[in-house]
Amino acid sequence: MDIRYDAEIVFQMSKTNIKKTKVKTPENWGKGTICIQAGFTPTVGGPRILPIFQSTTYKYEDLDQVERLFALKEAGYKYTRTGNPTVAALEQKITQLEGGTAAVGLSSGQAATLLSVTNLCHAGDHIVSASNVYGGSYTLFGITLKKYGVQVTFVDPEAPERELQKAFQPNTKVLFTETLGNPALGILDFDKFVRLARKNDVPFIVDNTLATPYLCNPFKLGANIIVHSATKYCDGHATSLGGVLIDGGNYDWTNGKFPELTEPDPAYHGVRYVESFPKFPYAAKARAQLLRDFGVCLSPFNAFLINLGMETLHLRMEQHSKNALALARFLKRHRRVKWVVYPGLEGNPNRTRIRKYFRRNLASGILTFGLKGDTQAARTFVKNLKVAALVVHIGDARTSVLHPATSTHAQMTLKQQLSAGITPDMIRVSVGIEDAKDIIADFDQAFRSIH
Ligand code: PLP
Repeated sequence: MDIRYDAEIVFQMSKTNIKKTKVKTPENWGKGTICIQAGFTPTVGGPRILPIFQSTTYKYEDLDQVERLFALKEAGYKYTRTGNPTVAALEQKITQLEGGTAAVGLSSGQAATLLSVTNLCHAGDHIVSASNVYGGSYTLFGITLKKYGVQVTFVDPEAPERELQKAFQPNTKVLFTETLGNPALGILDFDKFVRLARKNDVPFIVDNTLATPYLCNPFKLGANIIVHSATKYCDGHATSLGGVLIDGGNYDWTNGKFPELTEPDPAYHGVRYVESFPKFPYAAKARAQLLRDFGVCLSPFNAFLINLGMETLHLRMEQHSKNALALARFLKRHRRVKWVVYPGLEGNPNRTRIRKYFRRNLASGILTFGLKGDTQAARTFVKNLKVAALVVHIGDARTSVLHPATSTHAQMTLKQQLSAGITPDMIRVSVGIEDAKDIIADFDQAFRSIH
């Protein structure tokens, strides 16, 4: 049975490749069609749906073929830790949605963030990161990577450009930000950060998890690398952990700062990633070196479920955004609510950036609010929710709530929490795609249970 995996073609586009396969997936498909059909092309008599290739290994013609594969001279699968057809189909779909050149599927979003930086930084290097990044990214950079000799400077993404410039050092190798910060919900000023990245000649990495490739495409705005926790909206049904690292193919690695991409890699017969994989040297190196060595691969089963989830990403993101706006408007008027933050809400200072950078003014499905009263009021409210549930998750089709200060960001000091935009009274809501009127009625009855 001949089943074609479009992701393989991405590798076959590289210079050293033996076979030249014509890319058949139309480049001009709309986002909805890409969400549903990209990555896997069924053949006559073959399965219509992307199969799960639950296999660790692959069969070869002869020793010569294996030799070519291990020298990165031929595209193909060696062992599922470094590539698998089901995972490859998902990689191709996300690559196409983001407008990148290649992607690497990983075991979690956290693994994607880890590899995004360690693919470029060693002991003695430095990164500049926005301070409003996800709590796990904050501890990874601020605590764990420090132990391995990589230093970080956290910056307030709203600081003036002149101030931000002071954070860069001669050994700075990466600028890391989030499109839509979790959970403070600031929208990145892309123009300012692109100018900083260019001026300092460092690759600009953007975690696009909360915005999703349906609502915002950071490569079009000047990013060089994109990170996703596919666990969130891409999966969309809270079934599977997964991460993706995407190469924009738009950074000049030959500026002398990244010899590992330009000099021969002794572990692969002296391959030079920029020469052998000119369209996606960063992704090729992440796969060849880091997936091999760290082993943080995405399982084919999780890739299958995430791919299935992505088939409705375009529909879900429309509904998440509409429901979140409806709930935000309701909360803004409610006497029990002190404040509401939703970037798409009238009066929110980030609304102009939503208009500038996001699709059709849709602002995704996450909002935060503060309840009047003490923490007991928050406890009573959360306990009495019936449609929404208290879970440590976002991006699910079901509405979820969380208190970040005592959960995802509990490892930070109060000062660090405040600098990440987290206040002690903050409740984060991941607004689902149930009927908006039922979500609103649920919040209303839970408010009424507070005495
Ligand atoms: N990036 C963002 C913005 C997140 O919200 C999260 C998790 O909440 C991660 C990365 C880490 O992803 P994962 O939970 O898949 O490891």
